[in-house]
Amino acid sequence: MNTKQAERKRRTGRAESVKRRAGRSGREPVSVVTGAAGFLGSHLTDYLLAQGHRVIGIDNLITGNVANIEHLAGEPRFRFICQDVTEYLFLAGPVDYVWHFASPASPADYLNFPIQTLKVGSLGTHKALGLARHKGARFLLASTSEVYGDPEVHPQSEDYWGHVNPIGPRGCYDESKRFAEALTMAYQREHGLETRIVRIFNTYGPRMRLNDGRVVPNFIVQALKGRPLTVYGDGSQTRSFCYVSDLIEGVYRLMMSDYGLPVNLGNPTELTVLQFAREILRLTGSRSRIVFKPLPQDDPRQRRPDITRARKLLGWEPRVPLEEGLVRTIEDFRRRL
Ligand code: NAD
Ligand code: UDP
Repeated sequence: MNTKQAERKRRTGRAESVKRRAGRSGREPVSVVTGAAGFLGSHLTDYLLAQGHRVIGIDNLITGNVANIEHLAGEPRFRFICQDVTEYLFLAGPVDYVWHFASPASPADYLNFPIQTLKVGSLGTHKALGLARHKGARFLLASTSEVYGDPEVHPQSEDYWGHVNPIGPRGCYDESKRFAEALTMAYQREHGLETRIVRIFNTYGPRMRLNDGRVVPNFIVQALKGRPLTVYGDGSQTRSFCYVSDLIEGVYRLMMSDYGLPVNLGNPTELTVLQFAREILRLTGSRSRIVFKPLPQDDPRQRRPDITRARKLLGWEPRVPLEEGLVRTIEDFRRRL
């Protein structure tokens, strides 16, 4: 048996262990979701409950909102703990899966909270990994396309090491996630922990905070309120937007797979920010103007995921077209405005 085969056997053996353990005892699988009151964490929690998991959600509400999980009040299989995950995490009872989603994610948020962002990516990831190790659980890190920085390779595949400015304003987020990935791999290698890393590309959908500062909420709120849409720079920078239900399905498949290296998840349909602004105007029927504002420092010029790995390993690709996802998101924003 060569080294690669041995490594695969080791991973597969461990991959089966969680399933066997929860299955043997006849109980429901137990998941811990950090960042459960956030945009993605709350959708993930709903998905896990629908898959028959018990879920313990942990969040300190720094950028999240209890409104995202208030529909779960009275759900006996869900428990919420309001706690900072950089503090010691004590939980009684078994845990099978730890989904580590806690972290400010909007550039506006992490520029406001650079130290909190670095702490949750480093100390928070350490605590979440420690919890997984203590419980013998499998661990998944929500990483990001920002580990590629302002990429010089396009589209971005997982073997690209990135182009990050560590001391620029985005460094607090990019480097905290890069550290989190390194720590996750160290726990896998040193402690044999079953770990997964998902590199999430721009994802949008209902429940995003109206004022979180990311381009999707900004443009939709501006369009619905008849205010000018603020395009940063000349709007020629590109992004690729993935609808939340597609993303969550991919994240779940990755956790349940036996693959221990990073996997990109996102929608490869790429458009410029200016095209995106026009699309929002069209879909909202808004007569707002478009105005141009200075481009923030180190704003990535281009971003599109290469999802070959996710296609092959997980049989996953996004299914919700941009127009359909945006219509659903706009409806949700209209209700909340
Ligand atoms: P979000 O801000 O809506 O959710 C993050 C949640 O984490 C919030 O509820 C916040 O209160 C919580 N949190 C932050 N620090 C914490 C701490 N120290 N202790 C406990 N809770 C804490 O953002 P999101 O878009 O849902 O992002 C969730 C995760 O996915 C983040 O880790 C982010 O880096 C990653 N991600 C998201 C995207 C995206 O497009 N949405 C892209 C790449 C990566
Ligand atoms: N952006 C913009 N106007 C806004 C908010 C963002 O033009 O009101 C741009 C931003 O400069 C970036 C892109 O939209 O090029 C996506 O920004 P977002 O904050 O959503 O996240 P990022 O992909 O940069 O992490």
